[in-house]
Amino acid sequence: MTRLRLVLGDQLDSNHGWFERVEPDVVYLLMEVRQETDYVLHHAQKVIAFFAAMRAFATFLADAGHRVEYLRIADPRNRQGFAANLEWLVVEHRAVSLEWQSPDEWRLDRQMRVLAGSLPIPAREVASQHFLAERNEAVTLFGGKPRWLMETFYRHMRKRHGLLLDAAGRPLGERWNFDRENRSPWRGAPPEPSDPRPRRDRRDLWAEIQSAGVKTFGNPQAEDFRWPATRAEALALLEAFITQALPHFGPFQDAMHTQAPRLFHSLLSFPLNIKLLHPKEIAAAAEQAFLEGRATLASVEGFVRQIVGWREYVRGVYWSRMPGYEEVNYFDHQRPLPSWFWTGKTKMRCLAHALGQSLETAYAHHIQRLMVIGNFALLAGLAPRAVHEWYLGVYIDAVEWVEMPNTLGMSQFADGGLLATKPYVSSAAYLKHMGDYCVGCAYDAKTRLGKRACPFNALYWNFFIRHQTRLGGNPRLGTVFLNLARMTAEEKRAVTEQATGWLERIEDL
Ligand code: FAD
Repeated sequence: MTRLRLVLGDQLDSNHGWFERVEPDVVYLLMEVRQETDYVLHHAQKVIAFFAAMRAFATFLADAGHRVEYLRIADPRNRQGFAANLEWLVVEHRAVSLEWQSPDEWRLDRQMRVLAGSLPIPAREVASQHFLAERNEAVTLFGGKPRWLMETFYRHMRKRHGLLLDAAGRPLGERWNFDRENRSPWRGAPPEPSDPRPRRDRRDLWAEIQSAGVKTFGNPQAEDFRWPATRAEALALLEAFITQALPHFGPFQDAMHTQAPRLFHSLLSFPLNIKLLHPKEIAAAAEQAFLEGRATLASVEGFVRQIVGWREYVRGVYWSRMPGYEEVNYFDHQRPLPSWFWTGKTKMRCLAHALGQSLETAYAHHIQRLMVIGNFALLAGLAPRAVHEWYLGVYIDAVEWVEMPNTLGMSQFADGGLLATKPYVSSAAYLKHMGDYCVGCAYDAKTRLGKRACPFNALYWNFFIRHQTRLGGNPRLGTVFLNLARMTAEEKRAVTEQATGWLERIEDL
């Protein structure tokens, strides 16, 4: 009379109701499958990190007395897909029922529903108990509005969960948002905290992944692997963030620096997305740091906004737009990714650094993703679908529900402005102000035209010239179009020519 419960690789939540007590008739199933390693080309560290965490979770369950069936990637019994494996496991265990937790990705959600209808036993979906908002909460809140303001959703979430509020339900500090205090460049002080992540030798696991024929890219860094695999490691990372980085998180949230790849960011997205941590406990830990005077309200609010605001909001966008969101292409951009997205070899120092860091570590912080790599992709008119697949593969925390709206909506404006109120693009001036990327670059950030001019400059103005019809009425772009109107026809022609030249030689930039 065995009951099967499927645990997906991003559902490693030891506090889930399933695990409250040991039930001898329940077998927990975890499986490493080619279906998941192959739906996009992943960074090597991403595959290692998921499998290491899944294995650690299976060990944790078994040690706690639960029955576990774990299929490794190279196990000859493994049929390498959820459906094919579940079909034989049902027979093998003479199972009477199957349960699964709500998947976060549309493709798995659909697959499980279809599968449930075809199995010879009853199958039932249960909540993953991870998120602070329902899948449809954003759609309910915004109804048919054409623009979904994150700020509206965020305030709703703060009220609903009683975060950073006074006794009368007003925001602490009498402001909901300290965004204006979150925009300082970093000039070397305070020092970036040392990397708090564990160090593990994952060479055996990496060898197993390779022997199974899984294709990956990026540096595996298996001999000195830095991503947490257990809840204890994730909690230690949270604690290190709260004490060492959170006090400086706010002001330097948008800064970039070649000597400080992490700055004051938390590196918590991976353990959070695989559910080793719960968003509520992270937000509560940050709030507590403020109440105890260990971090300013500007830092704590800025951080809480990311966790209970942006993260839950993009999930709402994802579920309201799937299926079909992967196809959006508002500007009809079609250019393929230049090959240096896979090597980091470009003369543009900002991109060489942000891409190089991503390939080396499977991590880049938000502003590197948005204002360096995404900025270039949008200005250069790269195909949004290809950009999305690159982001989905390269980052350690990339699961589709959070990556897709960030890439297609926030970064590429490919949904026409549902999520972002204006395209996040900039010329070199912003990059120069927010970091040290331009120091020693082969291109000159201050010039627009000529061989040494930074490509971001002509591409920036060319972007607005090309898309004037679509964007001209956007109130948030008033200054941009005012400046464009001040350019002579000759200046515009020169910018267009310069930008066209850069795009023709994109491989050599
Ligand atoms: P911190 O700066 O310390 O922020 C704290 C936490 O807030 C993060 O761990 C994350 O859980 C959450 N958060 C912050 N910003 C966002 C956001 N815009 N959307 C959702 N959650 C947010 N995040 C992912 O988790 N997975 C992705 O695949 C992903 N892809 C992205 C692609 C693009 C083009 C952009 C612009 C952003 C993407 N983000 C993604 C959001 C954000 O960049 C990362 O969450 C963050 O950089 C992770 O690093 P951190 O944990 O050090 O974050």
